[in-house]
Amino acid sequence: MSDRAGKLGKKIHDDMAVLVREILSRKPGGHLVDPTLHEVILELVVSLNDAEDSAACFADVLTRHIDRVLDDAIQHVAMFRPGRTFCHRCGGPECEHAEPPSSRHVFAGYRPTGTPVWKDFAQQCLEERHEQVDRLYDDKPAFLTLVRDPEALRRDLLEAFRAKGYRLHGQVTAGFYTVPGKVTEGRAVLALTFQVASAAGAGGKKSFGLNILGRTPEEGLFPWRRPVQWAQSALATLGRGRQDDLDGRIEGILNGLARRLQQEQRSRSRRTRHAGQRHDAGDRPTRKALEDLEAAGSDDFYLDERNGTLVVLGQRGRTHFFSADGRLVSSVRYSREGIGGKLKNGLWRRAAGEEIETVRKQVSARADASGS
Ligand SMILES: [Zn+2]
Repeated sequence: MSDRAGKLGKKIHDDMAVLVREILSRKPGGHLVDPTLHEVILELVVSLNDAEDSAACFADVLTRHIDRVLDDAIQHVAMFRPGRTFCHRCGGPECEHAEPPSSRHVFAGYRPTGTPVWKDFAQQCLEERHEQVDRLYDDKPAFLTLVRDPEALRRDLLEAFRAKGYRLHGQVTAGFYTVPGKVTEGRAVLALTFQVASAAGAGGKKSFGLNILGRTPEEGLFPWRRPVQWAQSALATLGRGRQDDLDGRIEGILNGLARRLQQEQRSRSRRTRHAGQRHDAGDRPTRKALEDLEAAGSDDFYLDERNGTLVVLGQRGRTHFFSADGRLVSSVRYSREGIGGKLKNGLWRRAAGEEIETVRKQVSARADASGS
């Protein structure tokens, strides 16, 4: 690249960035996209005829183009709010109808007047006659997925209540995930709805999005992360290139997503089993661990839901992890802040009385068996 091109490129780029920011700051709703908008793709038409007004014309076309690109981005954000679906009755994702009422609820379609219908995932599987629905009620619930096409989801929605611009292209519902949760809310299970939807931009160009609906924990390495990344990059190719058979291609992406969600769950449970086997030769609990277990009050017990181990807070930051069958998985030392962080992030939840009792019994059975 020549020196001249390099300098020119930098100047054009910097001036354009300033211009785009300026236009964005004047737009209502601009603040919605500002934090997430990292780049815009612009078309430049440079006239090679020496007409007097080409520069003015260039500026005019460019400004209108930037305007339209930013309007599309704002429209997109206004229609896709993470964790919420689109309510046709209220014309957006902001209302109370747009959010699942509990961690077990998934999207099930629209009422005639446009409000979303939410259903318990087990109920949905029952109505769809999923052959493994009974296994959702197991102690360790099964993981099932359902792929629905858009027709089934908007069948009841009356034409008059259909908002323009937003279109649902199908979804996968999946559950149950087990997640950290409060004991008082019963079994901590989570069902999710993955929706593919599009917003029509000003130029009639569609932008596709994948939204995850559900009461997900705020942070953590979620088992749906990689499948979702895959689906998002597959969707990104839809807006570009050939536009034929969109429905078929979206259906393919939804099926691919469902398959990957299943695979991810299967390999996770395999990993958990392997982790368990490694400790099977298992040392007897150390004396300190037994003493700490003995002395621990009900406030000192937590459950690490990622692997189901009982966490026992002992003296001086000693922290012991017991499996449900009474093996000491490990003992570590945590600072007060370290423990606080685990609680804050929801990685540990307070253990229920019966969970503590179960592990205590198993530990003493093991100790008896080994003659100590
Ligand atoms: Zn609403």
